[in-house]
Amino acid sequence: MMKIAVLAGDGIGPEIIAQAVRVLDTLKTDGLAIELEYGLIGGCAVDATGEPYPAATHQLASQADAVLLGAVGGPKYDALPRHQRPERGLLAIRKELNLFANLRPAILYPELANASSLKYDVVAGLDIMIVRELTGDIYFGEPRGIETRDGQRVGFNTMIYSESEIRRIAHVAFQAAAKRQGKLCSVDKMNVLECTQLWRDVVIEVAKEYPQVTLSHMLVDNAAMQLVRTPKQFDVIVTGNMFGDILSDEASMLTGSIGMLPSASLDENNKGLYEPIHGSAPDIAGKDLANPLATILSAAMMLRYTFNREEAAQRIENAVKKVLAAGYRTKDIDESGMKTVGTKAMGDAVLSAM
Ligand code: ATP
Ligand code: MG
Repeated sequence: MMKIAVLAGDGIGPEIIAQAVRVLDTLKTDGLAIELEYGLIGGCAVDATGEPYPAATHQLASQADAVLLGAVGGPKYDALPRHQRPERGLLAIRKELNLFANLRPAILYPELANASSLKYDVVAGLDIMIVRELTGDIYFGEPRGIETRDGQRVGFNTMIYSESEIRRIAHVAFQAAAKRQGKLCSVDKMNVLECTQLWRDVVIEVAKEYPQVTLSHMLVDNAAMQLVRTPKQFDVIVTGNMFGDILSDEASMLTGSIGMLPSASLDENNKGLYEPIHGSAPDIAGKDLANPLATILSAAMMLRYTFNREEAAQRIENAVKKVLAAGYRTKDIDESGMKTVGTKAMGDAVLSAM
């Protein structure tokens, strides 16, 4: 049995999740043993319980094999104290489930080539994967805070990685590269940050176990530049939490379609949390405008990485390619001459393509 916890969250979350659930239900009807259970996370969880990641949600997520998540947050929650912010719910579930490996493919679908902000020949055929460490680095390091020293306020955070943390994310990245073009680029800032000197040293040690993968290294500032200059030089990029946060957003925009990109966050046993890379898009929530494809493609990643159902994953991905080829577009990826559809109609199109 494939036990999936579904956490729709806030904003457009419920609308896009509904379409992904229809896709999973179709697979279930066709014989896959899928069991869905629903829970609260983010702002809707704060409304109901006072906490963005309630104990009941943690229990549900811990007992499931995988979590399908929509998005969290919205202006309604901006004034809440830090520990109640919806985004805390997301940080908490990643940390509690030990989801240290964040995989973000950035693929340019040929039908959407005009959506990219770069010239067609720079991005045509782009297919890169960013592997971001997700549970360490400056986002979690202690000490941290804002305090008064010598009569003025100072803010501080700690960038910290242990070699075991670096080693396990490096293994995920080398394995991903081995299944793709066999090229891995590790991104750091070893010229000024000791923490990332260790990062580079450990990645070089791990590389000995993957002779079939070609390893290169790049400083993060250069990587940010190379990503927009010649993005196709990359196959898999591996980096820490903060650099990965920034570079994966940059890479996603090369494809021009924030509503198209899925993500996976995995633990040591390939249990995972799957979510679109975009946020809760409060500006279009409740209007049947959101693009559900990133969430539907996240469900495909779930079938591939957690459940090892490559065939089912490809069935979904091929259906998405078909609807794009047939001209279906939500507003975010629309161009003249296309069939503009809403969230639900896009879901309908994917279901019939399946
Ligand atoms: P977060 O902080 O949660 O990442 P954000 O403020 O960075 O959120 P998003 O919520 O991702 O941003 O929205 C950025 C823009 O992209 C908004 O204008 C939003 O409407 C649009 N957008 C995001 N997701 C989608 C989608 N699935 N379909 C259509 N438009 C989207
Ligand atoms: Mg954002």
